[in-house]
Amino acid sequence: MKGIAVSKGVAIGKAYLLDSTKFCIVKHQISELETEKEVERFRQAIEKTKLQMTEIKKRAEKIADKYAVILDTYSLLLDDDILVNETIEKIKTHKTNAEWALNETLNNFLKLFDNINDDYLKGKKDDLDLLVQTILKNLIGHSQESLSEIHEPVIIATHSLSPSDTIMMPKNFVKGLVTEAGGKTSHVGIFAAALGIPAITGVKALTSKTNSGDQIIVDGIDGEVIINPSNETMKQYVKKQENYRKYEERLLANIHQLAETLDGHQIKLLANIESNQEVKTLHKFGVEGVGLYRTEFLYMAATTMPGERELYEDFKQVVQEMDNRPVVIRTLDIGMDKQFGDIRNDNEVNPALGLRGIRLSLAKPQLMADQLKGILRASFYGNVKILYPMISSATEIIQANTMLEEAKNHLRQEQIPFNEDIEVGAMIETPAAAICIDHILKEVDFVSVGTNDLIQYLLAVDRVNESVAHLYQPFHPSVLRTLKNIMQSAENADKKVSICGELGGDPMATMLLLGLGKIDDLSMEPHAVPKVKKVIRTIRLEEARQLADDVLQMSCPNEIASFITNAMRVRFPEDFDRDLSFEEKSNPA
Ligand code: PEP
Ligand code: MG
Repeated sequence: MKGIAVSKGVAIGKAYLLDSTKFCIVKHQISELETEKEVERFRQAIEKTKLQMTEIKKRAEKIADKYAVILDTYSLLLDDDILVNETIEKIKTHKTNAEWALNETLNNFLKLFDNINDDYLKGKKDDLDLLVQTILKNLIGHSQESLSEIHEPVIIATHSLSPSDTIMMPKNFVKGLVTEAGGKTSHVGIFAAALGIPAITGVKALTSKTNSGDQIIVDGIDGEVIINPSNETMKQYVKKQENYRKYEERLLANIHQLAETLDGHQIKLLANIESNQEVKTLHKFGVEGVGLYRTEFLYMAATTMPGERELYEDFKQVVQEMDNRPVVIRTLDIGMDKQFGDIRNDNEVNPALGLRGIRLSLAKPQLMADQLKGILRASFYGNVKILYPMISSATEIIQANTMLEEAKNHLRQEQIPFNEDIEVGAMIETPAAAICIDHILKEVDFVSVGTNDLIQYLLAVDRVNESVAHLYQPFHPSVLRTLKNIMQSAENADKKVSICGELGGDPMATMLLLGLGKIDDLSMEPHAVPKVKKVIRTIRLEEARQLADDVLQMSCPNEIASFITNAMRVRFPEDFDRDLSFEEKSNPA
């Protein structure tokens, strides 16, 4: 199966299927030898269902005795020889998987019920159906809640994964992620990349073709998912996995070197982080600071709304760990695909254009005040900067800065120390901000380009919708012209420019971005830092400018993408290899 590769690497392991409400039953032929194993698997699912029913009954008794009695019906049905035996019989005679056999048994029963003209018995039909669905769930997959029950290495296969589910995942055990939904910059990818686990989104019909326990290969390099591979295929992918691991190891050799072009232009390479737990590992990748702390994950992981103190303590830990290197903390960007309990806005028809980012913070002054005071207090311990998300006019920055002044006044009154000269930046993520960039630049110390959203809004292509993922084109001429314009304006205004969207961490785009104009920092998921650094250290700014000039003449996004791919393949055969095998190769040049 093909999908969109969103986090590099190869994962091989056991599938753990979530979203079982969406499954459809597929018939698998099994061998004579496998039938006993399959019958045993079915019996285990029945036993598990019985235990669940007893557990539910216990809980129900506490609420109402009457309700608990109804649940007895389920247990009786589970002991029903016909349901169980007929299914086992089918597994043996048809040599099929238990799911299909059980579903066939269910269908036979349901047909019988249809011919009965008795309301009481007709009611039992639903009970039976519901019960069989529970057994099927136990056979096939797991509920979203079961994420925290994972105790062995698995690869998660699911229809979709919300950011809060991602937080619940036991990180040590999740070796890979595949989803049916999601586009190039969905948060599944961002999270997976932060954890360094291979991930693919947009895999059609994944959940109907995968069973829990299947052997699964997730090739996050080529965007391929293989279920129950042959021995030959397995060998091939074990080799690819090893090659990629060695390739990443070779890259780590450059972590202590500066990100400087051959003609002496330096760029700072910073990390995008989603939680303070990531900070400890940043040094492994030669990261020079935190260019984007996405604070909304801190809210989503919490059970109650974090206040000023919790925020301050969290931020302080990051700042101290970074030891005077820059830490850019973004104020809350809840909204669209990132929602949180009390402040969620589920009923928006079009959340991407709704009350998100700075709009929400301006509408909820207490929420913003807690954030600003938390950031300000942490600023006393290092080099902290504030970043406002989803800016669409200079007015929003002026309003946010007024709130910042109020927060500073409060802290002064409370005699709490903070950095009086804290720098303030705006994210450039909307066409409005990009077009009026000169207005924005007057109100801030720096701008940080959020290409994930900027591309989505410029091209009118939902960043998390797999059906338009092919139209999400970072190399679209409108994107490139917009970036050039932002960089030129920032240079004229003598203000710093950072790029913190996924494009900033894509080594394929590095040379082009440098060629487009002034860039001070690139902020990315930490694993990408050594790759981007390698590109920077191998090129001259002059050549990059030439590449950008050539590309800016072109009108077709696909033409630009293949031009860039070819140019990079010639220069970096190992990194942008056509067969993507990541075998060690020398540069023919
Ligand atoms: C962006 O939009 O590019 C960005 C960095 O912010 P996020 O991905 O958190 O929306
Ligand atoms: Mg954004």
